[in-house]
Amino acid sequence: MEIKGNIMVLAEVRSGNVHSVTYEMIAWGRRLAEKTDVLVDCLVLGTGEGDFEELIRGGADRVLVVSPGMPDSRLATPAASLLVSAIRGERPDIVIAPATTYGRTIMPIAAARLGTGLTADCTDLDIDPKDSLLMQTRPAIGGNIMATIKTPRTRPQMATVRPRSIKPLPADTGRRGEVVRKDYSLEGEWQERFISFIRSEEGDANLESAEIVLTGGKGIKSRDNFKQLAELAGLMGAGLGATRDAVEAGWAPFSCQVGLTGKTVAPKVYIAAGVSGKIQHLAGMITSDYIVAINEDPKAQIFKVADLGIIGDAPMAVQELTRAFKSHSEKGEGA
Ligand SMILES: Cc1cc2nc3c(=O)[nH]c(=O)nc-3n(C[C@H](O)[C@H](O)[C@H](O)COP(=O)(O)OP(=O)(O)OC[C@H]3O[C@@H](n4cnc5c(N)ncnc54)[C@H](O)[C@@H]3O)c2cc1C
Repeated sequence: MEIKGNIMVLAEVRSGNVHSVTYEMIAWGRRLAEKTDVLVDCLVLGTGEGDFEELIRGGADRVLVVSPGMPDSRLATPAASLLVSAIRGERPDIVIAPATTYGRTIMPIAAARLGTGLTADCTDLDIDPKDSLLMQTRPAIGGNIMATIKTPRTRPQMATVRPRSIKPLPADTGRRGEVVRKDYSLEGEWQERFISFIRSEEGDANLESAEIVLTGGKGIKSRDNFKQLAELAGLMGAGLGATRDAVEAGWAPFSCQVGLTGKTVAPKVYIAAGVSGKIQHLAGMITSDYIVAINEDPKAQIFKVADLGIIGDAPMAVQELTRAFKSHSEKGEGA
């Protein structure tokens, strides 16, 4: 395959497996590659196992597999050291990684070692048609403005991108590409040791991957009503979301906050109960497939983005739905 230049996408490896967020990053890589006519390389560090052809069907042109017997892919220094070696070897113009704990830890170390810039936590990426530079957009100044940042002088241009800011591409079974084993070696030493992984018990750990998200806003009216909303989310098998105002009222933990300064979600169904739909909230859920809004105010902004709008009392709707779900499960009918 003739190399015309490349964009490198860092695959997220968790417990030896390539995580699904990688497909979103490949989708970003593809979108940029189409504007610059370059290849999309997906770099997999620290595991030699997996269906790497799947990454090609997901949009990568080449999968570069580097697995020199690293102790654990979560150890930041060895992973960053391998990333630096791979960047020096492959010379990509752009490197993107998910803005997860993994990407947020490894990318800054690599950028510092390479003496280049890094824009963290982007919500949008594009190519400037005037100078072909990467336009890296992210919230700035406490989320009050969206800043577009460029890296004109150093290479590569590096960015981490929020999960759920793009949908993965549908798998293309006819796509052809290459899986290439690379033997970049670990340089230097590291002090870290992996001890254990402890999942946070606060909030809803599955919010970002849930297929249904049920979010409550100030229109839920009280802590007790919000508890009922949480119960309903459990009955529906939904992730529990909250607006910033609901979090600030102490009804839900920050880990439930959806929006610009909270989590980004893109479920199949997003239900917003008593949510006004301010721009900072929409930033975290606008890519959802189907949006249902329950609000007593017919002029509420949320109805402008909703596929199904219900004008009415949100606490009452929560009560009715809880009753309906309970009676269905008692009759053994399922949801
Ligand atoms: C820098 C910055 C970052 C921010 N980040 C975030 C963020 O990440 N996430 C976020 O959510 N917000 C964020 N915000 C706050 C955001 O601007 C809004 O203030 C917030 O989203 C509003 O929350 P809400 O919809 O619950 O409350 P409100 O705006 O007060 O809306 C309540 C809604 O409930 C409806 N309602 C009232 N009673 C009922 C009832 N009985 N039945 C049905 N509907 C009813 C009302 O009509 C209204 O539309 C941010 C703001 C700033 C400045």
